[in-house]
Amino acid sequence: MSNYRRNITPEVMDEESERRRPSNSKFDAKNYLNVKLADGENEKTLRIRLLPVDKNTDSPFKTIYMHQIKVSPELSKSGWKSYVCLKHTEDIDHDALGYDCPFCEMNKEAYEKKEEAKKNHDEIEEKRWKEISLQNRHQEVCVMRCIERGAEDDGPKFIKTNVRSDKKDLKSLIIELYKLKKQESIDEAMEDNDGVLPKGFVPENILDLDTGRDLMLTISRVFDKEGKPTNKTSISVAPYGKSKPVSKYDDELDEWLNDDKVWSDVFVAKPYEYLSIILDGEVPFYDKTNGKWVSKGRVRDEETKRQIAEENEANDKYRRAKEKALRRDREYEDEDEEEEERPRKKRRDDYDDDDYEERPKKRRRDDDDDLPY
Ligand SMILES: [Zn+2]
Repeated sequence: MSNYRRNITPEVMDEESERRRPSNSKFDAKNYLNVKLADGENEKTLRIRLLPVDKNTDSPFKTIYMHQIKVSPELSKSGWKSYVCLKHTEDIDHDALGYDCPFCEMNKEAYEKKEEAKKNHDEIEEKRWKEISLQNRHQEVCVMRCIERGAEDDGPKFIKTNVRSDKKDLKSLIIELYKLKKQESIDEAMEDNDGVLPKGFVPENILDLDTGRDLMLTISRVFDKEGKPTNKTSISVAPYGKSKPVSKYDDELDEWLNDDKVWSDVFVAKPYEYLSIILDGEVPFYDKTNGKWVSKGRVRDEETKRQIAEENEANDKYRRAKEKALRRDREYEDEDEEEEERPRKKRRDDYDDDDYEERPKKRRRDDDDDLPY
């Protein structure tokens, strides 16, 4: 159209506002399956479908190791935070992050000290070092990747679970469910076929991307003996709905399966120096000038020290100035005293004079009369 004139239209603005902004921050809530309960929330359910944990594997699980550490409330509201163990975890950039782990080092050192205390029959020290050793041990953690139903547009999400010896963790529960469903399908097939498996029978695989099923996760708050809510949660898992593919659209599934994001992009491992600061119970702070992690507390201490030094210097200066002023004052005071004395004398004189203003005058006059001159 020849009379077409360009304009900033609502359509173009809508498109612009929906365009994903490149983010400098690595944290994106969409990358995580949110299994946390909000304050006051006691239960929630999530429907998910597992994917292989990254594009180069068929396994839904990735084993990593983490340390759960008590941290400053500045770092986490709950006061606890998990850090990737640099010593035991594979597939991280060890050259950049380090091969050793400060928590594992502390775990070993505390264990040795505990053993030493045991030898010396020092029960208090033994108990103390045992606790420190336990606080710093590494834990097996399983990472999974999934699609959250109702939030498919977010793409694959990651979830991690501590692997527990009582098997009440998500990984163990999923494995149990997988085994149960497989056995159930075998038993049913045999029942329907006079006790023998039909030829070519394929047992159910609840995690199959085409013929598997969604999983319903129920996250419940744990209550203590007195019925008070705690910060702990329990999780249960059950199959949900009928057998169906992860996505109705092949290209969508391909996109999800080939997503480049890997677990270490979302559960970011921190370098050795950073973890050392955490171990000290401090808050790490990136010193841009020197390109390294330092303790915020130490920076604060140094800042405080610097401030104190400055204050001291200022006080010194003030003191010196005051001393100088005092010395000057003293000289001045001395003068003052002289002056004070003098006027007093003077005043006395004056007073005398005043007092005797009339009379002395007279007297003086009298005196004058007495004076030889
Ligand atoms: Zn470690």
